[in-house]
Amino acid sequence: MTNRITILGSTGSIGVSTIDVIGQLGEGYVVDALSGNGNIELLASQARQTHARLAVTADESRYHDLKQALSGTGIEAAAGRSGLAEAADGDASLVMAAIVGTAGLAPTLAAAKRGANIALANKECLVSAGDLFIRAVEDGGGTLIPVDSEHNAIFQVLNEHHRHALERIILTASGGPFRTWTREAMANVTAATARAHPNWSMGLKISIDSASMFNKALEMIEAKHLFDVRPEQIEVIVHPQSVIHSMVGYADGSVLAQLGCPDMRTAIGYALSFPTRPTLNVERLDFTKLARLDFEAPDEDRFPALRLARLAMERGGLQGAVLNAAKEVALEAFIDGRIGFLEMADITESVMDRMAATPSASSMDDVFAADGEARRLASGLIGTSAAA
Ligand code: NAD
Ligand code: MG
Repeated sequence: MTNRITILGSTGSIGVSTIDVIGQLGEGYVVDALSGNGNIELLASQARQTHARLAVTADESRYHDLKQALSGTGIEAAAGRSGLAEAADGDASLVMAAIVGTAGLAPTLAAAKRGANIALANKECLVSAGDLFIRAVEDGGGTLIPVDSEHNAIFQVLNEHHRHALERIILTASGGPFRTWTREAMANVTAATARAHPNWSMGLKISIDSASMFNKALEMIEAKHLFDVRPEQIEVIVHPQSVIHSMVGYADGSVLAQLGCPDMRTAIGYALSFPTRPTLNVERLDFTKLARLDFEAPDEDRFPALRLARLAMERGGLQGAVLNAAKEVALEAFIDGRIGFLEMADITESVMDRMAATPSASSMDDVFAADGEARRLASGLIGTSAAA
């Protein structure tokens, strides 16, 4: 059987690893469409290497560069929103959703609606659109397979026959580069320091989100929707070695975990091969070399993002979309050096409070409207004392 795969966000960290995994899986895996943004050279070389049918740049102004880079190959080029829609709409049986941020929502949703299986790296889809996204996958008839390492771990160990006894989901967190820092020291860090993750090699934005633990905040909300659990069933434990990728606790006291070296290719390979398991050339865990596994409770004073995730889940409605959009604006301002590291949470909380009464979404238009309003409010707060 041939598996046709489309990769939305092929030029990013997850995208590059996905192409590596497809190369390892070998025959039977064919690439339909690839999408990137500004890195035309990499996108074109990936398209040539994988013999893709279609390559898309999200940046319309780069369409001619892409077309030129692909000339003579027979590979189609497209750009912008319509190009992304074309990529999502092809005949791939599985779509790897690996665009970063809310930009990934529309094409992933389109792929879900037409019934493609979705390997979901883009956690923002679930944080912003939650139940609407889950329903789109169900209505389309495809399977949703989480790629985020924590959720992939839970997906691997959660036995549907034991769901009645599911007590808790335990998300592990590395704690990031500032795990042991004081709040005062964290106030003055730059993006260059914040992006240096101790264990995982990832894209810029998710690396900084890991340092602020906004990444874990998004993952708490992601877990709620993926596994249909109540907010109080979701625990976070700091585990600096990132060997245990997450755990499931049952009513009989049993805890089941998935372990491995921190390499996203294991989760990606699992998603691409589901329901079977692939053979992958990744590093094996050597227990004789693992000196120890440590665990500590997260500190919500230094990492308020975790508290904001609980607040968003308690309030429900569009608070996930608001948290995510405000955080994305604040994150960009931090990367540009316009605000301090700790202000990201202050701004996000202010915007969440201002939009606390927003009613629940009945359509994706409501999600996009809340996203836009949260961005507008967050931009207004940046550089003003209201953010402090
Ligand atoms: P990245 O920044 O390395 O890559 C992002 C991809 O999205 C690139 O292909 C880029 O061209 C594309 N892109 C960026 N802006 C775009 C836009 N406006 N429109 C369309 N495409 C755009 O990011 P990443 O680390 O690969 O992460 C991708 C997603 O996977 C994120 O949602 C992240 O949270 C999630 N994720 C990543 C990891 C990881 O290890 N990197 C782990 C778990 C989850
Ligand atoms: Mg993760």
